[in-house]
Amino acid sequence: MKDLTAGLARQLDRQKALNLYRTRRVLDSPAGVTAVIDGQRYLSFCSNDYLGLANHPEVIHALQQGAAEYGVGSGAAHLVSGHSRAHHALEEELAAFTRRPRALLFSTGYMANLGVVSALAQRSETLYEDRLNHASLIDAALLSQARLRRYPHADLATLEKWLMDDGAEHKWIISDGVFSMDGDLAPLASLAALGHRYNASLIIDDAHGFGVLGKQGGGIAEHFSMDAVQLPVLVGTLGKAFGTFGAFVAGSEALIETLIQHARSYIYTTALPPAIAQATRVSLRLAQVEDWRRTHLMHRVTRFRAGMEQRGFLSMLMPSPTPIQPLIVGDAARALTLSEALLKRGILVGAIRPPTVPQGSARLRITFSAAHSEEQIDKLLEALSELL
Ligand SMILES: *Cc1c(COP(=O)(O)O)cnc(C)c1O
Repeated sequence: MKDLTAGLARQLDRQKALNLYRTRRVLDSPAGVTAVIDGQRYLSFCSNDYLGLANHPEVIHALQQGAAEYGVGSGAAHLVSGHSRAHHALEEELAAFTRRPRALLFSTGYMANLGVVSALAQRSETLYEDRLNHASLIDAALLSQARLRRYPHADLATLEKWLMDDGAEHKWIISDGVFSMDGDLAPLASLAALGHRYNASLIIDDAHGFGVLGKQGGGIAEHFSMDAVQLPVLVGTLGKAFGTFGAFVAGSEALIETLIQHARSYIYTTALPPAIAQATRVSLRLAQVEDWRRTHLMHRVTRFRAGMEQRGFLSMLMPSPTPIQPLIVGDAARALTLSEALLKRGILVGAIRPPTVPQGSARLRITFSAAHSEEQIDKLLEALSELL
């Protein structure tokens, strides 16, 4: 028998040699614009806490109160005895927020996607996915055992050709709402129109749009005013702009009941801690009513892009209108070197490399938060202009 450990170690060495080895940093601070690592404070541009809610005093208080009322663990899956009043209330509030008849909580976005796609897609059907979709949507397709076709990013012509050639009675179009590594928006109206024309139902995972896009933070669905008929399956996560943890699916009564009956990643797992649901109810309210957070956030994005343009670096940025502002450097080694050089200047930015992004498109994934000050944006710009 081969020595497992020696084989794994050789594989890891190869990964290191390719600059594709991943490591974790240990933080001694909450998510936010400053990160404490090994006793040093860094200015951080890598959190998905876009609205600055992850460490909000009212959200923390709700979590504490929730724990006092419900304890820590939910104790069981939703269908057994883990579905608390707190979960139920949050689901009703998420339904109202998304203007859908119902919403269903999942423990993570990854699990929501696995559950939705595997519960809905029949083996005989085809799933059309954008090539840049989040890994969980790809894994979901594999789990469903349906046929998977990945169209080039936002390439509507190719998608239409494929749909036209597919004689099946029913199909699926699945896309990120805001693309997690590029920051651009899915061409939602066109996807819905294609779906309508070729009998394909639309599933949108708007993990990065909720809280950020739309007047009230209703995400890409609000941004494009798409109701539950045009966009029947809407997935959102709670660990990003809402600053807590978990995920949800919003849609019709029949959709949600189908998921409760058939989504295995919903049925066979422990419900979120109810205190997390209580905290999320507060952050959901703050995200809606504190409109200034979105205004603030968009000002930061604009300031950054204007600053990059002034310095002649605009072409390195992707045309992203969201707080995800990737700076493309191409080579994985260069992305790592830049990220380390920024770290030396007290700035934390993640180097994103393949396989998370396509070969040759390694990047610094810069993300902004409503909690960043203008001075902090300028500090990043200065550091970048020294390094690029
Ligand atoms: C982060 C993310 C997920 C996963 O959500 P989690 O709650 O972190 O598991 C799913 N889809 C997209 C597009 C994401 O960016």
